[in-house]
Amino acid sequence: MVGWSLLAGAAILLAPKVVVEVDVSASPSSAVWAEKAKALAEEWYPKLAEMLKQPGWTPPAKVTLRFEPMDGVAGTAGDVIHISEAWIRDHPDDWGMVIHELVHVVQSYRRPVPGWITEGIADGIRYAKFEPQKDSALHDPERSPYTDGYWSAGAFLIFMERSYDRRLITKLNEAARRGRYSPDFWVRATGKSLEALWDEYKRWHRQTASEKGRQPRLSDLPRQRGKRGWWGVKDSNLRRRPPTDLQSVPIDRSGNSPAGRIGYPILRPMQAHRPKASGRRFSRRAR
Ligand SMILES: [Zn+2]
Repeated sequence: MVGWSLLAGAAILLAPKVVVEVDVSASPSSAVWAEKAKALAEEWYPKLAEMLKQPGWTPPAKVTLRFEPMDGVAGTAGDVIHISEAWIRDHPDDWGMVIHELVHVVQSYRRPVPGWITEGIADGIRYAKFEPQKDSALHDPERSPYTDGYWSAGAFLIFMERSYDRRLITKLNEAARRGRYSPDFWVRATGKSLEALWDEYKRWHRQTASEKGRQPRLSDLPRQRGKRGWWGVKDSNLRRRPPTDLQSVPIDRSGNSPAGRIGYPILRPMQAHRPKASGRRFSRRAR
């Protein structure tokens, strides 16, 4: 057990070191926050790369965090993450947003991938791996289907990963990155169609809500199959809290909608975020 942890630790140490550049030329007031985000990215980007690793491919070795006046929250194009200065001013605890965008850099999809998969992987990792201590509420699948992307899809992916295959998200990401994703993926990975899996998730959600007498949360999801998480260590080893200075302000849950939405709101319909078939993955303004 210790051996595995050491091996996993060594794998992280041996991973190519990421160079994180910060650009606050368009937003000098973001400088302090930007430096913390840089430290967070230096710690987490190698972890994310390890979670989503695939043979014969390395994610970008350089990431730029560019702070600027812009609409929306943040968006990633290639290895450049654009972050709204107004957003971080109003949501100074939203470190999870940085993790979400870093996942997009690791994904580096070059071919069309359904938007709910791209965003679902990013939010699944964000909520379940980076901030499990928030124990985020799960959206009601009857009101917010997985095709909404983000946490609606992320929770569904985590549910399937824990129910069927602890490497499911890694495999899904690899299929997407290679341009080989099709609905057949689910049958190969779980023996069931996507529709059947979604029905199963909805049933589980309904049953859990009625048993608990409240909205199901992350911690209610089935336990991980097998003892180890994505990269040979227990998930709990991932659950290092952000550095102390990153958690000085309590988590703000005021953005919750009656449906229990946590984290940044979905500002626009999913359609607007869908990667274009032309190859550019994300709208510069999309999250
Ligand atoms: Zn996104």
